[in-house]
Amino acid sequence: MSAPTFRLYNTLTHETEPVEPIEEEHLRFYSCGPTVYMYAHIGNFRSFLTADLLRRTAEALGWDVTNVSNITDVGHLTQDDLVDPGGADKMQQALEREGERFANIYDLARHYTEAFLEDWRALNLREPEVRPRATEHVTDQLHAVVELVEKGHAYATDQGVYFSVESVADYGHLSGNTEAQQLEATDRDVVEDPDKRDPRDFALWKHDPEHLMHWHSPWGWGYPGWHIECSVMGMHYLGDRFDLHTGGEDLIFPHHECEIAQNQALAGHPVVNYWVHTRFLQVEGEKMSKSAGNFYTVRDLIQPGPDDAHVPASIRARGGVDPLALRYTLMQGQYRKPFNFTLDTLHTAARHVRRFQEVAERVDEALDADADGPDTLGDRLDDIYDRTLAAMCDDLNTPAATAAALEGATAIEQTDRLSGAAAESARAWLARTNDLLGIIESEFEAEERAGATVDPGLDTDHLSGSIDELLQDREDARESGEYARADAIRDTLEALGIEVMDRPEGPEWRREVEL
Ligand code: AMP
Ligand code: ZN
Repeated sequence: MSAPTFRLYNTLTHETEPVEPIEEEHLRFYSCGPTVYMYAHIGNFRSFLTADLLRRTAEALGWDVTNVSNITDVGHLTQDDLVDPGGADKMQQALEREGERFANIYDLARHYTEAFLEDWRALNLREPEVRPRATEHVTDQLHAVVELVEKGHAYATDQGVYFSVESVADYGHLSGNTEAQQLEATDRDVVEDPDKRDPRDFALWKHDPEHLMHWHSPWGWGYPGWHIECSVMGMHYLGDRFDLHTGGEDLIFPHHECEIAQNQALAGHPVVNYWVHTRFLQVEGEKMSKSAGNFYTVRDLIQPGPDDAHVPASIRARGGVDPLALRYTLMQGQYRKPFNFTLDTLHTAARHVRRFQEVAERVDEALDADADGPDTLGDRLDDIYDRTLAAMCDDLNTPAATAAALEGATAIEQTDRLSGAAAESARAWLARTNDLLGIIESEFEAEERAGATVDPGLDTDHLSGSIDELLQDREDARESGEYARADAIRDTLEALGIEVMDRPEGPEWRREVEL
């Protein structure tokens, strides 16, 4: 089959377009990374996963990829939906909240950056070629601000330096926000600066000698605005024309709108061709929030502590889910569609991931046995792979791609006797599918295993106390008619070697195997 055309929805043009890299077969793109003031949540990772899948799809087409994915460690304020936000610096606020845990704000940034990178690897995301920190590029940002002032796109007041949105033609084009809507996004502006020329102008530099991270500038001590960071880091590593830019949908306005304006003003032409945005993840049908009790960080689900009471017992009891199951779950919605994360989907995903792993084990055994016989699988698996890749090229249609991959697992499972030749085809298919989707084997774990000798196994120390809780959870689910959830909890218990017996007086359990 000839390679399918890679198509993505471009927020800028409102069209699903063929991806045509500026340099032939070399995709160069920038991804807005996390602000490192807390552990990343599963919604954040829905967005980061889009960038990883985009990379994997391009690589499957034989393209080179250069991805820059930043760490925001300064300048992201709490009112980030406003054009010129006030509120507190998210990092500074976190330090006030958690002060005793950290020596200073740099220590806090280091801690959450390291945790973020661990989560990134756990979810089997490939490393970007460059992962710059905003604080490493403050001098570059200052140069950019000076240049914007010199070119007449920015001006200084006592409170900072502002970008003049009127100085560029297309401001508002990406988001489609009219001037009235742009003005609305300034209403709650608590740092109203009387010297601002237009309320819509946004800060490139904030004058604030008291800020915990401050740098010297031609306008005194202060710190950079959030939007200029990404423009500068993008162009620093990818040049003034690159292919694509990713982020969550909340970044369309103002963050990316402002980036486009800055880029245009600095380069004199548009810099990025495709803007790709991931729709927000919801949990159990609602916006994820701590107050709604449906807020999960990645580590809540993959390595919960025994005292993480907000994590469902079904997750805690098994010491967390396989991170690949979380990855698989996040792929059950196409990045651009609303996606409702539920524990049911997570449990089902865990079963599918286990299935892939069992298939891989069977294939390994068949390769060892190397039985004579024809290759009954090769053509079928090639066709399945082609459909998987075609689905990914169709605007990253991950539900269709994972469904096709499951067909491959079924095809292997249903082959009674795997000849050495069929096993070879199956092995090749597993490797290609994993390369593209990353849901069968973790690349980082494979690396670690190469050097490791001990399988840490299940973390069961805290188990006994949780089993009763888990059973209660299952009873509650049954009473409220959530039978799929009840079954999923039973599966969890079984996976842990716990047999559940439903007696008239209530459920009882016993260990099937000694843990
Ligand atoms: P932040 O750490 O707040 O800068 O966010 C990091 C990335 O996660 C950004 O691209 C956000 O747009 C994205 N993001 C935040 N919340 C969600 C969510 N619920 N679903 C999907 N993406 C999100
Ligand atoms: Zn950004």
